[in-house]
Amino acid sequence: MKIAVLGSGVIGLTSAWWLAQEGHEVIVVDRMPGPAQDTTRASGGLLSASYAEPWATPRAPWQLLRGLFKDETPLLFRPSWDRKQWAWSLAFLRECAPSRFEANLRAMVRLAEYSLSTLNQLRQQLAFDYDYTESGVLSFYRDERSFDESQDRADRLRDLGVDRRILSPEEVVSLEPTLASVQDQIVGGDYCSDDESGDAYGFSKQLAQHAQKKGVQFLFNHDIVRLLYDEGKITAAEVIDDQGCYQQLQADLFVVSMGAYSPFLLEPLGVPCRVYPAKGYSASFTILDSDATPQASLTDMEHRLVYSRMGNQLRVAGLAELSGYNKALSTKRCNMMVKQTKALFPNGLDFDNVQFWSGLRPATPSNTPLIGRTHIKNLYLNTGHGTLGWTMAAGSGRALADLIANRQPEPEFPFLH
Ligand SMILES: Cc1cc2nc3c(=O)[nH]c(=O)nc-3n(C[C@H](O)[C@H](O)[C@H](O)COP(=O)(O)OP(=O)(O)OC[C@H]3O[C@@H](n4cnc5c(N)ncnc54)[C@H](O)[C@@H]3O)c2cc1C
Repeated sequence: MKIAVLGSGVIGLTSAWWLAQEGHEVIVVDRMPGPAQDTTRASGGLLSASYAEPWATPRAPWQLLRGLFKDETPLLFRPSWDRKQWAWSLAFLRECAPSRFEANLRAMVRLAEYSLSTLNQLRQQLAFDYDYTESGVLSFYRDERSFDESQDRADRLRDLGVDRRILSPEEVVSLEPTLASVQDQIVGGDYCSDDESGDAYGFSKQLAQHAQKKGVQFLFNHDIVRLLYDEGKITAAEVIDDQGCYQQLQADLFVVSMGAYSPFLLEPLGVPCRVYPAKGYSASFTILDSDATPQASLTDMEHRLVYSRMGNQLRVAGLAELSGYNKALSTKRCNMMVKQTKALFPNGLDFDNVQFWSGLRPATPSNTPLIGRTHIKNLYLNTGHGTLGWTMAAGSGRALADLIANRQPEPEFPFLH
């Protein structure tokens, strides 16, 4: 079967890989000049089943409300006249109900765990070099209430088979000695040794090369304008190249993996896709003194910033703004990341040459991605991975290939059908 995968982020690429493994003829289309140059480009590096937690928690509405009046909050909601923003926010509030939170947590953890084991298998099959570390993820808390909640969460995760170990401040510092100078601020931590980290962009570029060797074709610099529908199915994708030339790309089946932009293609066809952009930031610092820079991958739970080493750089990523399709870098938010990083690791990094970046997470209200068939029989989705697209990519691609082959995917997850 000829399959067109629309979008070459980490999700489109893993989809293309697993579909090619099934013997399909696959073509990947993207408007960028190469693979993974949008949200996957400089996101955080955590591959973490133990943090597969929805944003929509019973406490989230209060946190959002607080964010309305503060600039230095990790989760920023900027109300606008955008109808989609309001529809998304209302759906998000519904997902904050305790029963929805439990169901979403379970689904995310199952998919994330499956994905990490799939990634492991892929690493054994193919050569990769993407600054991968297996040292686990260590989180630290400065607020008693958040720490108490994390202990409760750790119990639930344990029931789901994820071992998130609770730590005292002394244990946090013994796992990551560069935090010694802030030990008096830390009330506790937790650590999951099964978590990993790595550069999603490096992985994606290499997976694209492996896929190309397996016969997957790539059509870069092509903007996908719309899908053509006739007699109950999609007949072609209308694309336009950077010279302005239109083309109709025909295929037997289409997979939409266009991240935060997926709804634009689907709405005209009446296909529901409640994905809204949640802007995040990253700052990459060159490491000047390795001993004064953390070895472990870290999460500062108060500021919702993750720290991971990528070669000779430390990547700091996080923050979330619900402010539409706007990737402008806010000086305040960039300064805030530098301030927090300097407060933790004042001596090891080059603070004069920081590479700032922002990307739009394709967020669903429940935080669970949309994977599977739509009401149009040859149109599939693999999108809406929000905060954890890198973690969930390998498993989502494989599950999608299973669904297209009419097989039940391994993880227990609410796939579309
Ligand atoms: C600051 C930040 C930190 C993060 N940290 C982590 C982390 O630590 N761990 C983790 O697991 N996840 C993390 N994420 C989430 C993760 O990066 C995303 O979920 C993931 O990259 C989404 O991948 P995607 O393929 O769905 O989207 P994208 O990477 O955005 O890919 C979509 C592709 O579709 C293409 N496209 C869109 N519209 C069109 C069109 N009309 N025509 C042609 N092409 C089009 C785009 O060019 C793009 O290449 C983070 C995200 C951010 C922003």
